Amino acid sequence: MSEGPSIIFLKNKLQRYKGKTVSKVSGDSTIDESLFENATLIDIQTFGKNFLFIFKEFFAAIEVNLVGNVLVNKRKKIAAGFSFHFEENEINFYNSDVKVFQGKPTDHFNFKTDISKPEFDADFILNELQSNHHDEKIGAALLNQNILAGVGPIIRTETLYHAKIHPDSLIKAIPEKKLIFLLKMVVDYAEEFLTLLKTDSVEKNALIFEKKNCPKDKFPLVIAEVGKVKTYVCEKCQKLFV
Ligand SMILES: [Zn+2]
Repeated sequence: MSEGPSIIFLKNKLQRYKGKTVSKVSGDSTIDESLFENATLIDIQTFGKNFLFIFKEFFAAIEVNLVGNVLVNKRKKIAAGFSFHFEENEINFYNSDVKVFQGKPTDHFNFKTDISKPEFDADFILNELQSNHHDEKIGAALLNQNILAGVGPIIRTETLYHAKIHPDSLIKAIPEKKLIFLLKMVVDYAEEFLTLLKTDSVEKNALIFEKKNCPKDKFPLVIAEVGKVKTYVCEKCQKLFV
């Protein structure tokens, strides 16, 4: 599963396509391809785990599960789920979800929820968690892109460890101070994550993600896997609030 900063990292590499004219798009039968013919790509942004390809009166939001599912001028053996074609280049998306929206991204996405945007609003998120998700487990809420856009399994695991909170803790039972600290950790770690990507050292610097023992007390970590999402927990360091 992808993380918001990985999407930003790749988006930054795609900036050379800004200002270019799209000759056509292909691959997704639900998309009105005629919209894109000869349209100028004004900007490429992100929202959470979505790439946003912005045109004059509309934009395409493409959510990718894995960064490896985006290929520039390369193809996999299977057909791409969606492709942008430029005069001499193409960007191919595999296993991705494409949606086209009229207007601007801020008309459709709440930037206050994106952990990597300057608009991120921790007070807004805290209120959302305590008012509308108080009976949920914090580990599940962190991965809910409608609450916190851009959190993936690594950010969730590392920040809960930093904040010493067990992922199965109920939001209503977690002291408010701890939740505020956790949200600060999420924003700080997302920024650090983007920096670490530049030297390909996210995994090397992770404290417990994909590790076997807690670095502090050497206790074996409890590893759970739900779907394809892994969680690592030190039951000695991370308190369960219920
Ligand atoms: Zn520990």
